[in-house]
Amino acid sequence: MKLETAFTMDTSSIKYGQGVTREIGYDMEEQGCRRVVVVTDPNRSKSDPVAVTLEALRGRDIDAVLFDQARVEPTDGSFQEAIAFAVQGDFDGYVAVGGGSSMDTCKAANLYATHPADFMTYVNPPIGKGTPVPGPLKPMMAIPTTAGTGSETTGVTIFDYLEMGAKTGIANRALRPIRGIIDLNNTRTMPKMVAACTGLDQLTHALEALTALPYHQRPAPDHPRLRPAYQGANPISHVWASRAIEMIAKNLVRTIADPSDDAARGEVLLAATYAGIGFGNGGLHLAHGMSYPVSGMARDYVPDGYPQGHPLVPHGMAVCLNAPAVFRFTAPANPELHLYAARLMGCDVSRAKPEEAGEILANALIDVMRKVEMPNGLSAVGFGPQDVDQLVEGTLPQHRVTKLSPRPAGPEELRRLFLDSMTLW
Ligand SMILES: [Zn+2]
Repeated sequence: MKLETAFTMDTSSIKYGQGVTREIGYDMEEQGCRRVVVVTDPNRSKSDPVAVTLEALRGRDIDAVLFDQARVEPTDGSFQEAIAFAVQGDFDGYVAVGGGSSMDTCKAANLYATHPADFMTYVNPPIGKGTPVPGPLKPMMAIPTTAGTGSETTGVTIFDYLEMGAKTGIANRALRPIRGIIDLNNTRTMPKMVAACTGLDQLTHALEALTALPYHQRPAPDHPRLRPAYQGANPISHVWASRAIEMIAKNLVRTIADPSDDAARGEVLLAATYAGIGFGNGGLHLAHGMSYPVSGMARDYVPDGYPQGHPLVPHGMAVCLNAPAVFRFTAPANPELHLYAARLMGCDVSRAKPEEAGEILANALIDVMRKVEMPNGLSAVGFGPQDVDQLVEGTLPQHRVTKLSPRPAGPEELRRLFLDSMTLW
């Protein structure tokens, strides 16, 4: 097998600053857009960030149309609704305002309205066909109102495929927004639990990007076009992921305890983007792979601060509940790197032995989870050992991420990881 010898570094342009949402009219005008759809979810349709966005666009005489039906934790069905709206609206530009769900819905709407195809055409294999996107999309900009998904910097969109009860997605560089607008004014009103889940998601993004299989241990693509967006850990993703881990570990607990702490909140917001650049190029692995069936199989759990209409295990929660077991498992692949991650989180590892690396990093993560009041493991969100087979089955097809585990994880390993994630402390 020929191994990979190259990696690329792609990211969106970023605009960061308090109040920069007001410049979105100018930003879209600069792209030549005259008729723009603003995608958000029903909870945010009357929020300040959406009002400011619409006003800024209309202030530049851009025809701005609101689509406020992006579903929190989107499904193939909710994507199709947004796609139908986009096809009918004939837009020449896209703006997403909201969390990962709104951004991901906006990416899908842009993709299928620009390059119409059967829904499974671009979906990641083996669940979908994984056909490469035939050309560029319409200009899209993303205005995150939660600090965590990093979706504004990536060419990835994730949804629940209801037929399979699992999350999957579409990953292609063409989906990447051309600009992420990071505005401190937009995250002030995040409920506590939303801030905790998104913050832990971004921390896990950075930890997974850091510890993913190195790019040069991945099989070489047959054609440069087939080089995946998630390429494996590389020297550039390492820099972004490392700095993100440090910034989040230092500031996340502070921002949740005191949302008026603008300095800490600004750091977390910026770190989400850093982590996004890290994982958007380096990739993610098992904690994400395992999270997709956890979210997909949510039955009766509804966390505080989220819409109460349907059961859900928020993405960031599903990810971090699996993460301590994952890092205990991956540490033997590169103990020094796992100890380095623990050091970035503030642990004293000067006397740590390599064989303790996994435990130390897992405990550092559990410490943050407890401080921000995460539930204690999968059993606290409605899962038990009887669910493990189905959870494993839902994880195995997530090749895009599971293949980047620095240690191969088959059904037996995954079983053990899910069992270890039932109770964390
Ligand atoms: Zn994530």
